[in-house]
Amino acid sequence: MVLILTGCSMQVGLLKPQMQTAAPPVVVTEPLSGAGQGASKMDASAADDTAVNETTPDETNKPDTSTSDTGQTAVDSGKEPTSGTDNDTEAVTPIEPDSVVTSVTIAAIGDVLIHRPIYREAEQKDGTYDFSSVFKLVKNTMLQPDLLIANQESMIGGKKIGLSTYPSFNSPFEVGDTLKDVGVDFVTVANNHTLDRGEKAIQNALKHWDELDMPYTGAYKNEEDQSHIRTITRNDITFSVLAYTYGTNGIPIPKGKDYLVNLIDMQKIEADVKQAKQISDVVVVAMHWGTEYQDFPNKQQQQLAQQLADLGVDLVIGNHPHVLQPPQWVEGQDGHKTFVWFSLGNYISSQEGTKKQIGGIGYIDVVKTTVGGQSTIELTNPGFMPTYVYFSNWKDYRITPLEQTKNSELAQANKQFKATMKHMKSSMPELSLIHPIAS
Ligand SMILES: [Zn+2]
Repeated sequence: MVLILTGCSMQVGLLKPQMQTAAPPVVVTEPLSGAGQGASKMDASAADDTAVNETTPDETNKPDTSTSDTGQTAVDSGKEPTSGTDNDTEAVTPIEPDSVVTSVTIAAIGDVLIHRPIYREAEQKDGTYDFSSVFKLVKNTMLQPDLLIANQESMIGGKKIGLSTYPSFNSPFEVGDTLKDVGVDFVTVANNHTLDRGEKAIQNALKHWDELDMPYTGAYKNEEDQSHIRTITRNDITFSVLAYTYGTNGIPIPKGKDYLVNLIDMQKIEADVKQAKQISDVVVVAMHWGTEYQDFPNKQQQQLAQQLADLGVDLVIGNHPHVLQPPQWVEGQDGHKTFVWFSLGNYISSQEGTKKQIGGIGYIDVVKTTVGGQSTIELTNPGFMPTYVYFSNWKDYRITPLEQTKNSELAQANKQFKATMKHMKSSMPELSLIHPIAS
């Protein structure tokens, strides 16, 4: 069935959290045959979701469910109940069926990598940590998308086991508290630093994420925890979020504890994606991959992206190179289109050098259209807001929107901003620039 939606212009980054999008006008180019009226995969699975699920009321946006009534009236009357001009029937076939269109703006940020100068500056007199000043200038922007996913690169194992920096990170719990406060809805924790400080740091971190009611994926407490695919629901669209890393910096995974971190293993990924498709509308996969400091994806990233597209993954969030790599649509075997952020760079770190200090927030809209019990998902309208990690003498850490970064903070800031957008658009001229929201 071909549906033409009108009036469906999504403002990326401007949708308020939990906002329900009203159903726009729908034009049906062929009459509803009544085929495919059975419950869709999505509808059936939504109720099944017991995990992290933050379900919004399922039915709030649905118009009158008595489809046959309204649909039938339109067909029978043809708006000219008494005419009886049967010859015109074919020309008058357009029906206004009950349709529901909801949308979600899903956004992602790159590596959250807490080097020593960052946690040193955040330390308070009473020994606790406060990272809020780092995010102050981007907080309002980060609060906008319906769903925001972060890559927590350094485990938040807490102060008790000793904080540490590169090459073996352990970060304060309070990093998590701040991420929650600035609008992060989900953290991915499979990366090359997951095992830096061993099982204790991972278990402490996961416990803290649980205390914050922050869903995590990619590292797990035990096998049972790992077997449970994470989902999150916004505006009646359910997302599964999976995460994998290429490796763990040579640190072996403790025997019998594979659940501590998900490695990139296509067999496992395939099985997970299959399961994820059963319980969600949209499958998101975070990949920790690529070559550090490379501006473009390497061959392996491209091959993996193709494999993920072939599996029918909807969105890939790539990280690890510490610099931005341009996003791309990748078409799978069956024509399925996958949107791939190859690398979103560093969102917060103390790595020095312009490219390593530039990261950003990547946006895309997910639109779910349900007609006659059948749902379709479309990803559309990708956008990007570049950011810059400012610091001076290993102090004053703050993430600033690159568009607003001053020359005193970054030499030729405007030139860097333009060059960054040009780079990110290199495979996709339609990638829109997202402007920051004032703090
Ligand atoms: Zn990494």
